[in-house]
Amino acid sequence: EISACLVGSEMCIRDRVVSLSVIAFDFRFLFMEMAFIWLCIPFSDDDRGVHFESIHHIKQKKRRMNMKYFTKFLCLFLGAAMMLTMAACGSKSDTDANAGADGEKKQLVVATSPDFPPFEFLDGSQIVGIEPALMQAIADKLGMELVWEQVDFDSIIPGIQAERYDVGAAGITITPDRQKNCDFSNPYFLANQVIVVNPGSDIQGKADLAGKTIAVQTGTTAEEYCMDNGYSVLSFASNNDAQAALTSGKADAWVVDNEAAARMAADQSLTVLDEAMTSEPYAFAFAKGSSLVDQVNTALQELLQDGTVEKLFQEYDTVYVSPLS
Ligand code: GLN
Repeated sequence: EISACLVGSEMCIRDRVVSLSVIAFDFRFLFMEMAFIWLCIPFSDDDRGVHFESIHHIKQKKRRMNMKYFTKFLCLFLGAAMMLTMAACGSKSDTDANAGADGEKKQLVVATSPDFPPFEFLDGSQIVGIEPALMQAIADKLGMELVWEQVDFDSIIPGIQAERYDVGAAGITITPDRQKNCDFSNPYFLANQVIVVNPGSDIQGKADLAGKTIAVQTGTTAEEYCMDNGYSVLSFASNNDAQAALTSGKADAWVVDNEAAARMAADQSLTVLDEAMTSEPYAFAFAKGSSLVDQVNTALQELLQDGTVEKLFQEYDTVYVSPLS
């Protein structure tokens, strides 16, 4: 509530500043118009039928004329200066469509679940990983500012539908079911589901999962896959808890995306089985009909083409797999 209040008052202040600048803008026009009309009035000074002029009168008249010239030139100078500032304001908002009237960048609220290394994880309280880096590169291209929201994976798409977030960036696989509820960017990576077991487990592959208890993260394609195959499933809000269920012996196996499996299993000396059970393109999720999809796709395409995406994967020691492969 406090943050909503702060945001509200900030918007209020911003609105006032905007309306004040609009008023100032209008006044400048009015002033310019008046100055122009005044400039058009010819010098009519002292054609009032004075036939006899003393030296003193002539001097006074000359001084008045000089003064008039001076004020007219001053007006011209001020008018030109105003025109220049207006032109500068106009060109700024024309070129940067995502900057507000006061020059602030448009905010892009991104929801993620930072329990999915190397794609997103916490470094202290900071959300880092391939997707935060990629989103930042996209936002830089679009002239936008990122605002990260940390949520459970299964809250991301409902939050996008409710327009609480503009984008979901969480290693989200494009699936036909999800496509009914949200729009996706073009895919930028290809992943698969794998089985993770404790060292010495008798589970060697998919065929051995029958009758076993499998830990998964709620709302993921791992959960969907295991349920569709009729396995007995234990679901957890976070990937860390699904992993803990395996290490504590509550579950016999943990099914998760391959890159997260490799990273998280290494930390706990778990065994990742070779068998790839699915093929899953990752993309960013948006509300249905969001105009952001096209903008993000254009930026993403440039970053894929110039090698930035591959470089970002390398920075996180991850082999880039193209979704077109
Ligand atoms: N790719 C999987 C999915 O979309 C898992 C994503 C995740 O756990 N962050 O469901």
